[in-house]
Amino acid sequence: MTTVSLGMPEVPPPALAERRRSRQINVGGVPVGGGAPVSVQSMTTTVTADVNATLQQIAELTASGCQIVRVAVPSADDAEALPAIAKKSQIPVIADIHFQPKYVFAAIDAGCAAVRVNPGNIKQFDDKVKEIAKAAADAGTPIRIGVNAGSLDKRLLEKYGKATAEALVESALWECSLFEEHGFRDIKISVKHHDPVVMIRAYRQLAQQCDYPLHLGVTEAGPTFQGTIKSATAFGALLAEGIGDTIRVSLSAPPVEEVKVGIAILESLGMRERGLEIVSCPSCGRAQVDVYKLAEEVHAGLDGLPVPLRVAVMGCVVNGPGEAREADLGVASGNGKGQIFVKGEVIKTVPESQIVETLIEEALRIAEESGAELPEELRGLGPTVEVH
Ligand code: SF4
Repeated sequence: MTTVSLGMPEVPPPALAERRRSRQINVGGVPVGGGAPVSVQSMTTTVTADVNATLQQIAELTASGCQIVRVAVPSADDAEALPAIAKKSQIPVIADIHFQPKYVFAAIDAGCAAVRVNPGNIKQFDDKVKEIAKAAADAGTPIRIGVNAGSLDKRLLEKYGKATAEALVESALWECSLFEEHGFRDIKISVKHHDPVVMIRAYRQLAQQCDYPLHLGVTEAGPTFQGTIKSATAFGALLAEGIGDTIRVSLSAPPVEEVKVGIAILESLGMRERGLEIVSCPSCGRAQVDVYKLAEEVHAGLDGLPVPLRVAVMGCVVNGPGEAREADLGVASGNGKGQIFVKGEVIKTVPESQIVETLIEEALRIAEESGAELPEELRGLGPTVEVH
């Protein structure tokens, strides 16, 4: 038989491009750039001067998987709190400085892992670069040049008319050049915009014009749903091109949610080992159970599971057995019953009312057999689980 070439390559190219080669910086022990795994960061929402509240939130962020945390330093009281926070935080702390160059020195002296400056916002910043570069170099403290569409340099706003991708990039590279004049290159850059299209264009340009590690962010992305979509879309596009060394999802929601979304984005792209993954069908007219409810209950019951586990929750026998067989654990439902699959084999059939508890029990058994230490909230849930 003659085969007709459709012009398709025989071996499709990998979905993700090779990572862009960036120089590496060290943010308090977390390597950023230079091929290091993409790290997830967030920012506290507490008043930084309230040391206990800030450390409490940092502890919550650490527990959720956050690797680097940023704290805002708008006042002298906040700057004074930095030594205690930097010392007691379990993860590296970045001081976020707008308006006052003197707080940059305070943050470096306080032992912060890095300092973020926004050139558009720091008064007389350009005159202070020499001193900042020296203090940062002496202490081994990296600097993030963080340009934001909302606070772009007036000069560039006038030149470009608005915060275009070109304007954001020019602002960032201009500030980098001021540091470079003093031999300082321990820098990472962000060029954030609320519009993912502008943001993607800006980071693409930046990636071509320098080798600094890049901190990805869609700024003011909005409430959880919208912010998640915007961040996932923009980060996904860039990370698939190999661009991006650390990420911060910005949501109008508690910062732990930002971390969860950031980690999920990396997991979806295969850049992190996946944790719990629910493969559930969208349901349709053939569904014989309430798939939404089942999927939600299984997800809620296994939230925080510390092992990679794919659980298929399928509504009928059309695709159900196939997907359930492919997953580590799954159910194919029908006629008021659920066929439970473990590693491709049907292990039992249970009434619909017991599907959720059986899946949770089996998932915990698999996790325990793998030697994983279960978090407290999942311990003892096994056979006695109650699902409403
Ligand atoms: S698995 Fe069944 S119920 Fe779910 S979407 Fe597919 S056909 Fe519909």
